[in-house]
Amino acid sequence: MSEDAMQESAPEARTAELGHALEAVRRRIDRAVATAGRDSTPRLIVVTKFHPAADVRRLAGLGVQDVGENRDQEARAKAAEVEALAEAAGTGPSGLHWHFIGQLQSNKAKYVVRYAAAVHSVDRASLVTALSSAMTREQERRQDAGLPRREDLDCLIQVDLDPRPAHERPEGIGSRGGAAPDGVLTLADRIAGAEALSLRGLMAVAPLGLDPEPAFRRLRELSGAVASRHPGATWISAGMSQDLEQAVAAGATHLRIGTDVLGPRPEVG
Ligand SMILES: *Cc1c(COP(=O)(O)O)cnc(C)c1O
Repeated sequence: MSEDAMQESAPEARTAELGHALEAVRRRIDRAVATAGRDSTPRLIVVTKFHPAADVRRLAGLGVQDVGENRDQEARAKAAEVEALAEAAGTGPSGLHWHFIGQLQSNKAKYVVRYAAAVHSVDRASLVTALSSAMTREQERRQDAGLPRREDLDCLIQVDLDPRPAHERPEGIGSRGGAAPDGVLTLADRIAGAEALSLRGLMAVAPLGLDPEPAFRRLRELSGAVASRHPGATWISAGMSQDLEQAVAAGATHLRIGTDVLGPRPEVG
């Protein structure tokens, strides 16, 4: 039986499975926080890419408030489906925060601002311009339609921390995209000065196949430099299933965990 068919025939078993996995991840995070001697726990963003809207609903029922997606088309459809399911069930809006964490083409900005509260993958000036004008238009659209005001879009700069030249990198999550470290402050100034955007901090993916520790240490240094110019920009989005402990040790404020909560994906994107 396919994974989908199993989920259909055993919806409660899937909910229990997600509940156990979520608990195990939360325990890992708590242990890492204690080991690092930190007094605050990072926010858990559950990365739901490749998994169905039904799983997102289950996660929301288990207390998850933040979900992450890396492809606009999939995220857009899933966010709409989650809200439709919530409406059909009479439970009201899900209240979920959608975090966009993938490579983003500027022409998709107008879609992303409709469902995403945050974009973690801002890595170039042209994308700042596109997000700013899309978010401005979205706020105007909502006002004209008599809808509640949307907060400014939370933006994080994705930093490329891989020391290897592009052609020597293995293909995988984060192997493309990201601003060069020496361009981060300029990009930060640009986001901070852009209408309808709110500069929150930095995001990175540890270089595939290398020790994540030096990369996360560099990320923390860059974060300090950005936050000293922009006091509100203190988020550090780092840490995935494989390296959450190292990310917590390096001061991550947001963790993006997929596989260890939802199980394996059919492919990695
Ligand atoms: C998929 C993805 C994650 C989650 O990775 P896991 O190894 O499944 O926990 C985190 N960050 C980004 C940018 C991703 O694309």
